[in-house]
Amino acid sequence: MSDKLKIISLGGLNEVGKNITVLEYKDDIIVIDCGIGFPDGDMYGIDVVIPNVGYLVKNRSRIRGIILTHGHEDHIGSVPYVLKDINAPIYATDLTAGLVKLKLEEHKLLDIADINIIEAGKSFRVGCFTVEPIHVNHSIAGAVALAINTPAGMVIHTGDFKIDPTPIGCQMTDLARLGELGKKGVLCLLSDSTNAERRGYSPSEMTVGYTLDSLFENCKSRIIVTTFASNIYRIQQIINVAARYKRRVAITGRSMENMINVSSELGYLDIPKNTLIDLNQVKNYPPEQLTIITTGSQGESMSALYRMAFSGHKQLDIIPGDRVIISASAVPGNEKTVSRIVDELFRRGAEVLYRGSMDDLHVSGHACQEELKIMLALVKPKYFVPIHGEQRHLVFHSNLAKAVGINHKNIVISDIGKVIEVNKKGICINGSVPSGKVLVDGTGMGDVGNVVMRDRKHLAQDGMLVVVLSLSSEDGSLISGPDIITRGFVYVKEATDLIEEMRTLVSDTLVACDANGITDWATLKASIKTALSSYLFKTTRRSPMILPIIMEA
Ligand SMILES: [Zn+2]
Ligand SMILES: [Zn+2]
Repeated sequence: MSDKLKIISLGGLNEVGKNITVLEYKDDIIVIDCGIGFPDGDMYGIDVVIPNVGYLVKNRSRIRGIILTHGHEDHIGSVPYVLKDINAPIYATDLTAGLVKLKLEEHKLLDIADINIIEAGKSFRVGCFTVEPIHVNHSIAGAVALAINTPAGMVIHTGDFKIDPTPIGCQMTDLARLGELGKKGVLCLLSDSTNAERRGYSPSEMTVGYTLDSLFENCKSRIIVTTFASNIYRIQQIINVAARYKRRVAITGRSMENMINVSSELGYLDIPKNTLIDLNQVKNYPPEQLTIITTGSQGESMSALYRMAFSGHKQLDIIPGDRVIISASAVPGNEKTVSRIVDELFRRGAEVLYRGSMDDLHVSGHACQEELKIMLALVKPKYFVPIHGEQRHLVFHSNLAKAVGINHKNIVISDIGKVIEVNKKGICINGSVPSGKVLVDGTGMGDVGNVVMRDRKHLAQDGMLVVVLSLSSEDGSLISGPDIITRGFVYVKEATDLIEEMRTLVSDTLVACDANGITDWATLKASIKTALSSYLFKTTRRSPMILPIIMEA
């Protein structure tokens, strides 16, 4: 057996989301993070995308643990799906564990899960690996980097991080510890590439606090603020500023309520007494004494802000004069849904402050170029593997590594499924394992394969056409039909000629089949399909899905 450490990303490279990295040494495997991705626009009806973990299922007896760096969906979202096949112990900090438990409860898996709470600075053993979590700043509390002592050498996985000298409610990223490990010698660094294109430093969370303060000061209207539910630091700042201006705070939206419950139970949120009120009490206070914190920063159509804007919220409506603050950026792909909600809020007479109309309403939770260089300089790894990013992010990040003096031969840009082998003598890509996407539709899982997806695409683009006819059971002659029913293809009332042509064509096809002695239904159906689809493509340039239905009479 080789004495090399294998590093395999099953997601998170050349894509945004579904982060999952496998570390393997001889008989032991650990998995770092287990996230979901989000569907592309052409994945009709797909709710989430999870990584293909066939490789892990095959090797399940060798998996010693799943270690989670923080509680964002792109790092923990797949845990319930993966746990059904691989019941390995989970290691996470308390807040991350709390969020995972909520998910497992929903999937009725909490009983079978073995969840272990970890803490920054306290090492634990998993198989042949010793893992030390290291505190980092990010847009969620309880985020850690992992220093993993392997028999081949020390590996540091940053998780998602930034370096915030003035964070809210926590310490700065533990640069001192990273530097100590760097001095002892680090074999390989795997580091977050999300903002590798951006120059300078990511602004401190504190800058958003100043902006919020200026928007609350002297404001006489109701203030409605939306942000990512998981950004507890931001929620803390909103609560602080509301309390400072003697406003009560009501919370709406299930994920926001869940997050606030879990994090205040664990002591991550400090809510001043008599600040929170129930949604039902909102009507008892004048506008200048109210703040509402809501979900919907991405314009999600089920979110509380969306329902308020489109009059679908049971207790709250947008009223003219409301000040709505969107303290978030649109995740790539969500720009349209966000602008839709902003437009509707304006239409309702609200004053809307969003990124684009105003600066410093949001800061990123990911390190920019100068911070990435500091990480590289402190850790001083022999080998470097950029992770968590599209190709351009990975390339930018490897250029930064070269700039701080890492030999270009020691930098590897990998791809999902590729196997990196590394030890003190060298690093290389050697082969690959199965990887890719599994599409999840509603509560089902992985039951939507390529064929189903192709059909949905087909239906969405060209619609469908059903041909119904009945044939005599005695001599196979046409008794009724052919009737043609279409959906999403042509507007029937304006296409009577076309429909008539199709009916004639089907009758002619049946006559021709009969003349050739063809009587089996499968061949009849295939002939009808071929005749119709080539005719329709010629006349309309469209290819609707065609379903012939033959009945016996
Ligand atoms: Zn994150
Ligand atoms: Zn992430």
